[in-house]
Amino acid sequence: MEEFVERAVERGLKAIGFADHNPLPRGLGANVRMKEAELDDYVKCVLDLRRQYEGRIEVLLGLEMDYVEGLEDYLTAQVAGQPWDYIIGSIHYLDAECTQISWPRNFTGETAWLYSRYFELVRKMVRSGLCDVVAHFDVPKRSGRAHTEHQTGDITRTLKEIVRAGICLEINTSGYRHPELRRPDTYPTRTIIAEAVALGIPLAVNSDAHTPEDVGLKFDEMERLLARHKDARLVSFRSRRQVAA
Ligand SMILES: [Zn+2]
Repeated sequence: MEEFVERAVERGLKAIGFADHNPLPRGLGANVRMKEAELDDYVKCVLDLRRQYEGRIEVLLGLEMDYVEGLEDYLTAQVAGQPWDYIIGSIHYLDAECTQISWPRNFTGETAWLYSRYFELVRKMVRSGLCDVVAHFDVPKRSGRAHTEHQTGDITRTLKEIVRAGICLEINTSGYRHPELRRPDTYPTRTIIAEAVALGIPLAVNSDAHTPEDVGLKFDEMERLLARHKDARLVSFRSRRQVAA
């Protein structure tokens, strides 16, 4: 994890946040997340890095929390149990058994169903009050099926739910390294970012780096993009409160 911080220092970033995937009970989605027994070590490791780099860069303690219907009590305890700076809420699964991925590459059903089910769960997650940031808002496009005007109503409804909850939308640059997309793109795409800005939703830029090389991926381009939106409000987090970035 130290290499990620080193890379962020080299890039001149003011802060770096870690947000590993949260443990889930009964081995749900176990191939992509920490085990319950690893959570304390993860937290300690990030807090140690915070102390080690004090004065050079701020190290934030985050968590990417899968929202799964029916696990609200489990997640509430998880979120309350550590001194998190921020919780990124994400929908990686369309079912409570965590078997249906929200961007299935072999998806053969209706695109309309894929997006409507996904956004339904995003709205439930937003209403749950468990998260501070909504992750990779239009991630089903990673299936190769882009959203179209048919999803406009669902997208707007979901953004308005984010407004009501007073939480923040992530601009995630990992789409620049995802070969499944038809062309490199942010999550969400530019038109949704513009709509979010118009609705006054605060934004947080995240490279979702899985290797040190990807820390800060395309941040210079994001700066140019956001400079074009003079009303855009960029935020960071301390102890689950929004602060100006
Ligand atoms: Zn994710």
